[in-house]
Amino acid sequence: METNIEEEEGRPAEYFKGYVTHVIENGDTFWKLAGKYQTTAENIMRANPGVNPWNLQVGTVLNVPYDRPLVPGDVLYSSVLNEYLIEGLTVRYPFLESGSIGKSVMGKEILYLKIGNGKKQVFYNASFHANENITTPVLLKFAEEYARAYAQGGYLYGTYAPQLYEDYTLYLVPMVNPDGVDLVNGFLRGGTYYGQAVDIAARYPNIPFPSGWKANIDGIDLNLQYPAGWENAREIKYAQGYTTPAPRDYVGEAPLTAPESRAVYEFTLAHDFSLILAYHTQGEVIYWKYLDYNPQDSYAIARYFGDVSGYDVEETPSASGYAGYKDWFIMTYDRPGYTIEAGRGVSPLPMSQFDKIYEDNKRILLGGMTQI
Ligand SMILES: [Zn+2]
Repeated sequence: METNIEEEEGRPAEYFKGYVTHVIENGDTFWKLAGKYQTTAENIMRANPGVNPWNLQVGTVLNVPYDRPLVPGDVLYSSVLNEYLIEGLTVRYPFLESGSIGKSVMGKEILYLKIGNGKKQVFYNASFHANENITTPVLLKFAEEYARAYAQGGYLYGTYAPQLYEDYTLYLVPMVNPDGVDLVNGFLRGGTYYGQAVDIAARYPNIPFPSGWKANIDGIDLNLQYPAGWENAREIKYAQGYTTPAPRDYVGEAPLTAPESRAVYEFTLAHDFSLILAYHTQGEVIYWKYLDYNPQDSYAIARYFGDVSGYDVEETPSASGYAGYKDWFIMTYDRPGYTIEAGRGVSPLPMSQFDKIYEDNKRILLGGMTQI
């Protein structure tokens, strides 16, 4: 992979993964190891559910998590960091499941996290748009907070986490567009795909490069790829001048031609989601509608989200009212689907906004389960 977080941040991969491995030697105990690695015996037990602390076997490899929160809110995200954090979370909390829903244009895995065993399935995704990647840690941090609350048998923002876990299955795809995120944040700085992006951007000189890039690495806007009024979207975006691959707003030659959009589409078809949240920036606004569809409880849930976040609740403006993921979800299932435009300013929003964005959105993220 082109990205090298070790160079970018001057820290080893273990720092971001948040754990080291230890091979058990004669005389080791979880309590001694906790002292050696400055963590707790509880953390080690939790990360190694198959190991009996009273009967350690020499040669067994243990995962030893550090005793600190994992998901940072103060670094630029990359596909590699997303991968490290998902690995780190599943090591700390082995009841989490992770995997891939498909590959990006450049062959990077589009990763998911799954939390819970409940009958009701919900799905949240982020970073469909490359320069809106502050939304990735919003989902990752929520996963971490939820997993910690569940592991401790405690409460997540007032809701008893073990009950949540039994009632709902939450799927998260924190980075739908890994190639685009790497481009925007400077983790892709050479090679064929970088050159292609430079050429595409040169045809749209009014869009800053790479900070104005929303599309996938082929210049297709992943949130204008869904078979829900796609022809209308094409007409609108062509009229605005986006007639070829572009940093944003190019709909592609046909629906679902971009592998990232198709992966989310197929992942959705393979499940039975009662509700979806699609995280974007910016504007502090919640869009809940597609055309005249009015799924049961959809507006009431939107109002609830507005109340707990302080965000406005609006109908989608018609110029961007077609071919988005939430549009297709609402049209296909007649169930609640929302685009959340987090934060305020010009994308990419600075990471200094992360704490506020997380605080504003954590009860939306919880409510996506409890309100359905
Ligand atoms: Zn967006």
